[in-house]
Amino acid sequence: MQFHGTGKVNEHGHLEIGGMDTVTLVEQYGTPLYVYDVALIRERARSFKKTFENLNIKAQVAYASKAFSTVAMVQLAEEEGLSLDVVSGGELYTAIAAGFPADKIHFHGNNKSLEELDMAIEKEIGCFVVDNFYELEILEELCAPREKTVNILLRVTPGIEAHTHDYILTGQDDSKFGFGLQNGQADEAVDTALKSKHLNLLGVHCHIGSQIFETTGFLVAARKIFEKLKDWKNEKAFEAQVLNLGGGFGIRYTKEDDPIPASQYVEEIIGEVKNQAEKLGMETPEIWIEPGRSMVGDAGTTLYRIGSRKEVPNVRQYVAVDGGMSDNLRPALYQAKYEAVLANKANVEPDETVSIAGKCCESGDMLIWDLPLPKSDHTDLLAVFCTGAYGYSMANNYNRIPRPPVVFIENGQAKLVVKRESFEDMVRLDLPLKEKIKK
Ligand SMILES: *Cc1c(COP(=O)(O)O)cnc(C)c1O
Repeated sequence: MQFHGTGKVNEHGHLEIGGMDTVTLVEQYGTPLYVYDVALIRERARSFKKTFENLNIKAQVAYASKAFSTVAMVQLAEEEGLSLDVVSGGELYTAIAAGFPADKIHFHGNNKSLEELDMAIEKEIGCFVVDNFYELEILEELCAPREKTVNILLRVTPGIEAHTHDYILTGQDDSKFGFGLQNGQADEAVDTALKSKHLNLLGVHCHIGSQIFETTGFLVAARKIFEKLKDWKNEKAFEAQVLNLGGGFGIRYTKEDDPIPASQYVEEIIGEVKNQAEKLGMETPEIWIEPGRSMVGDAGTTLYRIGSRKEVPNVRQYVAVDGGMSDNLRPALYQAKYEAVLANKANVEPDETVSIAGKCCESGDMLIWDLPLPKSDHTDLLAVFCTGAYGYSMANNYNRIPRPPVVFIENGQAKLVVKRESFEDMVRLDLPLKEKIKK
């Protein structure tokens, strides 16, 4: 087993993360429990930033907060000098509540509401990543009466298929996101933005997909965008100051995944952008990137208690845990794969193959198929790795299961950063039909 970050097996044979025994953590906080290895998040953030700094390239590394948005995580991003992507009023509110500097917030989304845009303008965020003509129109309408000018990037779809799961593919032409680069939409959007006194067009954004293991897609996207930047420079006298190439850098969920280091994506992207800019006689634009998964994904581990077991003779052993698709939707949604060990027997050799079931009333609520594990029962804890991105952020209350708490661990210290939901929370927003509800 190859552990992530500070993960290792300690002298008791227990999984240890950030210098804390996971068995002790469970005694204190219960299960299910999300645990984050803070040192690993810091390492990732620094590695992205340092690569730009070493090559002397102006950049913003924006953490895509949709991967895991909480007040503590936003504050950690601030400590590491990251910028922040938000995609909704709720994520924006979280960022502001965390005290994140507004001028480093970038607002994404294909259907931002009037209220969301209004709030973002009031907070004077750093940049709007405009997705469509309707948004250009309402931004103008909101800014004009206040005589405000906002920075914008135009999101374009460069028509690239990144090699990844279809559901998380967004850079191809037939996508709900962005202005088509090839069909004239992007040119028209540039004209509209340049005409406006209230929209300050900084440049172009694209995001070609997620969990991408090679750099080709990013390089081709950059090339296609530069073909347009050339036209815009010649025909519209517009030079982009910013080129945002999005996120989507892959991580290792299982041993079948073979990601390249963060620095390599960045180095190759910088190389291509510099080349292209030189060819066109343009200054190298600022490069912005937006890692989400690669910032927090492998820093997260979910701890569960093992419960019931069902044998289907000659077929398989189902072993159930006390969570499931309510705290990790990705297997049900994308057939995502994970690795896991028994947290309290982390150095015991597997002697059976089991399939890990959740406790939700859905046959599709399976966390891992065919996982080699040592023999286990209700005294054992299962640690599922790499749940840091799109785990808590996609957690839900299906079956009215309260969402688990989140603990940050660093240097042998644990800090609770999200409390466990209670049963009272499950009825918090419910209004009774009759006067009294029993608590
Ligand atoms: C989701 C998203 C990201 C982050 O993607 P990851 O795969 O988590 O790195 C970045 N930019 C945009 C526009 C996104 O929608």
